[in-house]
Amino acid sequence: MKLFDAHCHLQDPRIFHKAPQLIATTVNSGVLHFAVNGVSEEDWNLVKDMSERHPSVIPCFGVHPWFVQERTPNWFSTLKEFFETTPAAAVGEIGLDKGSKGREIDFMDQVGVFRQQLELAKELKRPASIHCVRAFGDLLEIMKSVGPFPDGVIIHSYLGSAEMVPELSKLGAYFSFSGFLMSMKAQKAKKMLKVVPSERILLETDAPDALPKAELNSLFLVDGDPSLPQELSAKEEHSPNVGSASDNQFHASKDSSTLPRETLNHPANIHNVLDYVASLLDMTKEELAELSYRNAIRLFSYEGSKILTEK
Ligand SMILES: [Zn+2]
Repeated sequence: MKLFDAHCHLQDPRIFHKAPQLIATTVNSGVLHFAVNGVSEEDWNLVKDMSERHPSVIPCFGVHPWFVQERTPNWFSTLKEFFETTPAAAVGEIGLDKGSKGREIDFMDQVGVFRQQLELAKELKRPASIHCVRAFGDLLEIMKSVGPFPDGVIIHSYLGSAEMVPELSKLGAYFSFSGFLMSMKAQKAKKMLKVVPSERILLETDAPDALPKAELNSLFLVDGDPSLPQELSAKEEHSPNVGSASDNQFHASKDSSTLPRETLNHPANIHNVLDYVASLLDMTKEELAELSYRNAIRLFSYEGSKILTEK
């Protein structure tokens, strides 16, 4: 089975020093590519460096709405330079946020920074990974005025309504699903998933965030995660269903909702996302893996992309 993690943050300071191990474990589990999204000027170099070290990493550069206030006066010219020196890169993470965290950041500033980056993605003919929380009306309006997007945009961790799907997909949107989908009522998620065109479905982890809700013994945990209870954090590398008998006993009756909120998500948990989305779509895991992988390969096959140079 081949999988493509369409959106994650392996450069995140919480897991950066463990990234080589996380990538190795996840590649072993069948994940061939990770779209690693920068969030601010501060981490673009880390993303670029990670992409140079790991053939599986697709670099993405962008200013995330939560980091809009920290941008320097030269942020946009720096961003453009990164794209000039990194032809393999896509755009992301960019977006709009009117949620509890986003409300603290001036919305007009968010809109300005988002629009500029969306226009750049269109000009560069690259996909852009978009974060949208409680701002779908604004998102649609801006996408209509800048778009359409023949090179695709990714609405990452999509939790919007079924009703928004046709308008967004008409503009070129792909819909990427993470463990956050498990926070939506299953009936609502199912209704929404069923209207997403099959050629626009992607899977992602958003690691180190979005730990899927699942039995503990079906999850990969990040070694040394400070939020884990001691008996879970002390072990070498956590892999599901391969522990000793006593590990399995410990895990048997528990699921991830018993863990602290800040527990880190391992990118190999894309398998749990695959299982969940496949069950809601009444597809087999194999069918959804194949479909979502094919979609991601098509989307990330822009000029300069690693996907093309690999072939
Ligand atoms: Zn993200």
